[in-house]
Amino acid sequence: MAKIRIYELAKQIGIESKVIINKLKEFGLDVHTHMSSLDSQTVSMLKKALELEKTEKKKEAQKRQKKETERKPSPKTSQPRSSAARRRRRKKEKRQAPAPVATEPACPSEEGTVYIAQAVGVGELAKGMNEPVASVLTELIKRGIPAQKNSVLDFETAQAIASEFGYEIKHKDDIPEDQRICTEEEGEGQPRHPVVTIMGHVDHGKTSLLDYIRKSTIVEGEKGGITQHIGAYYVEVNQKKITFLDTPGHEAFTSMRARGAQVTDIVVLIVAADEGVKPQTKEAVNHAKAAGVPIIVAINKIDKENANVDKAKQDITTVGLVPEEWGGETIVVEVSAKTGKGVSDLLEMILLQAEMLELKAPYKGPARGVVIESKLDPRRGPIATVLITQGRLRQGDPFVAGSNCGRVKAMRGTRIKRYNQVGPSIPVEIMGFNGVCQPGDSFIVVESDKIAKCIAGQRQEKVKEASFKQRERISLENLFEQINKGNLKQLNVILKCDVQGSVQAIVDGLNKQKSDKVNINIISTGVGPISENDITLAEASDAIVIGFNNRLDINARKQAEVSGVSVSIYNVIYKLFDEVKQAMEGLLEPILEKVYQGTTEIRKIFKVPKIGKVAGCMVLDGKITRNSMVKVLRDDVQIYEGKLSSLKRFKDDVREVVQGYECGLGIENFADIKEGDILESYEITEKKQEL
Ligand code: GDP
Repeated sequence: MAKIRIYELAKQIGIESKVIINKLKEFGLDVHTHMSSLDSQTVSMLKKALELEKTEKKKEAQKRQKKETERKPSPKTSQPRSSAARRRRRKKEKRQAPAPVATEPACPSEEGTVYIAQAVGVGELAKGMNEPVASVLTELIKRGIPAQKNSVLDFETAQAIASEFGYEIKHKDDIPEDQRICTEEEGEGQPRHPVVTIMGHVDHGKTSLLDYIRKSTIVEGEKGGITQHIGAYYVEVNQKKITFLDTPGHEAFTSMRARGAQVTDIVVLIVAADEGVKPQTKEAVNHAKAAGVPIIVAINKIDKENANVDKAKQDITTVGLVPEEWGGETIVVEVSAKTGKGVSDLLEMILLQAEMLELKAPYKGPARGVVIESKLDPRRGPIATVLITQGRLRQGDPFVAGSNCGRVKAMRGTRIKRYNQVGPSIPVEIMGFNGVCQPGDSFIVVESDKIAKCIAGQRQEKVKEASFKQRERISLENLFEQINKGNLKQLNVILKCDVQGSVQAIVDGLNKQKSDKVNINIISTGVGPISENDITLAEASDAIVIGFNNRLDINARKQAEVSGVSVSIYNVIYKLFDEVKQAMEGLLEPILEKVYQGTTEIRKIFKVPKIGKVAGCMVLDGKITRNSMVKVLRDDVQIYEGKLSSLKRFKDDVREVVQGYECGLGIENFADIKEGDILESYEITEKKQEL
């Protein structure tokens, strides 16, 4: 079968396109418009799913009916069973069940819904549905799937089986936010300590400050005990902890964000007192602002002779950071990473800011985290530093991280050689991965090794698929498509120009093009060639990059190709505005407008054999054409609206008849015409939408 568009298929099946789009989204397919086309495999999968849904609904209705009539306590089981037998069976199952392990709850369920990751064990599914394992196994066998309690079912199979029991299976990611954070098993959110990234221009002292903080916070007895750099560390100040990501610079920060991981709570922006704001300071501010992370400014190197703190403060106002002492909102601390002056104030300020953020995470339940760094250790195999974001990670826990999996063999921190368990905001280096992860990969503890392997395997397949498909990103070409899909209410722009003068002119021009449909948000501006950093920021912020009178450097070009970020470079300013404007409105679906043509009165009705009723009319105003649409008004009330079926003058077909002339006409599918009826004729024109 050739490909078919969604709206065509919808028509064929007799349902709304929206229903198909939603169903496909449930399958994890990225479709947004009714114009997207589907291949035969997807169509048959879709039809099956819809069929299944139909039967499921039918069954549910039947069950509900049965429940009402029989007033049975458990309507979900299909076969009647004695409660004693049910109890015995459950007891037996309980005995057979493996000892509980600290795992991701594979089946948190709510009324009629079981949430699973990509796969689920038979036992877990049964538990989630509150059904005996045997019933689930029977259903599987009926479908020709020989399974055991510990067998793992993929999402589709689980879905099909669950529907037999009147349950719906949903991805865990779809668990409503409130239930996700505070389920009974995960525990309430408890205060957690902040995670900080230090950013700033090269040589302004990021590494020195990180080193100073690490060394100065070591308590007596631990000295000399520092063993390893694992990519992050935490310190204790006034009995409160702060975690620092030890990979300074915005590359790590942004590349993690580009992978959907946002672990930083506070950015410390370091500005050297002898140099003030530099290009990378600006970039860092843009990155932090784009991520919506609060910034604390550390003016560093205050010990230097040529330090000019006031000038540095003045400077930071140019990037939108006004110090608190000058009436602004930015916390500014003067420090020296060399002498240590002011560092304890900085730490206090971090704690203060953290307090205001009221950071929380559930401490109980299976762990989740984000991979900060990962490498292949010649002795220990693939290892990764993971920042735990919620729950408790224990040695022995099976996990999935990106498309890798494993079991926690050993955990260690910067100073602690061996952890048995860790909680939120703590970074740990973990041994036991089956491959090297990517920074930003999500780390999730799951039920068993089997499930971990199964999920990782499926993810690997997806990664392979994704490498064929370029990620759909916003570009000037598909801009309006994105707006129409409802994906875009805001166009994020990164602007790089030859000189500062053009930056201002272009920013002003672009701001004028904002409309109530799309807001243009310029997240970063700069002077010089478009760099790799601009592309990474665009990738992380779903932005387009616009250049003026400049070029793309080689690495940036490669990066743009890999990430699919759209880059457009212009030499003529008006062309730039025109193209952005055209992209914003060019693909707009036209508005259909009814344009009044004229008014015609029916003066006499004739019955014509084989044709039916024909109206003898007089055009009172304007005109009426063969292609006109007409509203039929009787006593000023519209009684019909439709097309003309014929328009004649005497016996000849004519294209139009104008005011003051007589004509004969018929109306398609409408014979109830009467003398004295008024026909208001109009045509439908397409009007281009404007922004
Ligand atoms: P990074 O590139 O931002 O990580 O900067 P570094 O931490 O490598 O520091 C760059 C240079 O500045 C090094 O030579 C440091 O010794 C020096 N430096 C950093 N902080 C201070 C400071 O507070 N005072 C002085 N005098 N020198 C500093």
